[in-house]
This record gives sequence, structure tokens and C-alpha cells, in this order.
Amino acid sequence: MVLKKIAEAFSGSSIQRCPQCDHPIAYESINIKEGVACCDPCRKLFRLSELNWSHRSREEVLAKTPLGCSKVEWGQSLTLTASARSIPTFIGLSFACLFCNGIVSVFLSIAIAGLWANLVGPIPGWFPMPGGVRQGRPIMNDAPMNLGTTLFLCLFLIPFVTIGTGLVLGAMFSLLGRVKVVIDQVESYVSTGIGLLSWKNRFDPMSIDSVRFSNSSGDGESAPKSSIQLVGEDTIEFGSMLPSKRRQWLAACLQEIFSPNDISRDSRPVWLEPNNRR
Ligand SMILES: [Zn+2]
Repeated sequence: MVLKKIAEAFSGSSIQRCPQCDHPIAYESINIKEGVACCDPCRKLFRLSELNWSHRSREEVLAKTPLGCSKVEWGQSLTLTASARSIPTFIGLSFACLFCNGIVSVFLSIAIAGLWANLVGPIPGWFPMPGGVRQGRPIMNDAPMNLGTTLFLCLFLIPFVTIGTGLVLGAMFSLLGRVKVVIDQVESYVSTGIGLLSWKNRFDPMSIDSVRFSNSSGDGESAPKSSIQLVGEDTIEFGSMLPSKRRQWLAACLQEIFSPNDISRDSRPVWLEPNNRR
């Protein structure tokens, strides 16, 4: 996995950069055996998984705000938003969703009919069941379903229903989802979700030391899957479901805000200056 990345870096398709100062890290400064890299300007060691594997510098990333991203300053608070919309992902997940849930719904309707027949009353003979209806019960393996078979089917279906629900949520997220980072003196959080249906991860902006990437290579894929980490008292990780351009932009914005040795501080709220920190 690491060798693959280094081969990529060598072929010029991507360069490994320091997550703190964005300086490109030379091949000589990487110790593959220990899995660490040294950034000369920072004089710091980083794990290889924390490096930013990108051919674009932070300046280049920030020069143009990608479509679906926004940065809003309002008084003392700063809100960064990145949309998770990806039409190819949505189409892919929708197909998977239709396929999986189409099959699951057949079995689910049998299970519901079985529960109804065993607990409430007979189901009518015209009721559309794949195996037909006998004695007011759906047929399973050439016999009317009893309560045991029905309950077994229900248990058996739980993981499939979970996957189906996950696919529905994933498809909805790839169409309408977004990641929002709010940095405010009163309450700072990262929220991920769809509109009101979202979960919040609170963090203390004063305790954030750095913004890192967390790369885990997806086997058989050219680009490693990655997420953004806010490293502080409680490290939080997010953004893995964002399209890579928007994730890079969001990470670059956050790095500019939280990197202690950054020259350009225009993007940083005054109350977050290092001398105001604890
Ligand atoms: Zn550095």
C-alpha cells in the first residue's frame, strides 16, 4: 500500500506534502520501514498515513472554491460547508439500492404476511405471495409458515434490512448530504448529514493542535480513501464521504485556520489567535 503510493509519487501523479506547512516532502525524508516521514521546515515527524497525498499545494486548492463549498463569516463565527453531492455515486448507490431492496422487500413481505397469519388472522387466498397461500398462511418450502419459521425469517432478514437502509441513507446523502464545520467561541462542531437529519461532533477550537489526513488505502483503487482529522484533546474524524476535491478544500481551509506557523492569518478569527489560546 505504501509502496504503491511512493511509486505514484515517483511517477509524478501525486506528491506527499507536510500536513502542517504544506511543504513537499522529499523521498529521502521518508522512512518506509518505520512508516514515518520528516518535514525539514517543521522539523517534525509525521506518520505516512497523515501526509497529504496531493499534487496541488494548499494555495492552489484554496485559490478556487469548488462548486458546492462555501465559507461564511458571521461576527465571531466561521462556517465552512461542503456538499456531499456526487451524481455518479448517487446513481451507483441508487442501482444497488433498487437491486438489494427489491430482493429484500419480497422476503420482508413474506415475513410480514407470516407474522400477520400467525398472530392476527388468516390472510386471503388472493394475497400475492411468491409461494402462494394455503390455509390462510403463506407457503414456505411447500408448507404453510408457522410462527417459528416466521421468526427465523425475521431474524435472518435483520442484516439485509440494515444494509438496505444503509444504502438508502447513503444514496440520499450523496444527493443531499453535506458536512458543515462551525467554528465559534460559544460552540464549535462538525455536523454531517442531510438537513435536520444530521449528527454533530463538538470540539474545542482552542485545543486543536493540527489538521491531519487519515488515509487508508482502498485496495484496488487508485486514490486512497481519506478523511480529515482535527487533532486535539478529542480527535474527531470526518469528511470521508465527501468528493475528494471538496474534502481537500475543506482540509486546506481548516489547516490555514489551525496551523500555528501559518503566515497568512486573514482566515483566522481574532479570538483564535495563538496568544489568546490556553
Ligand atoms: Zn512541515
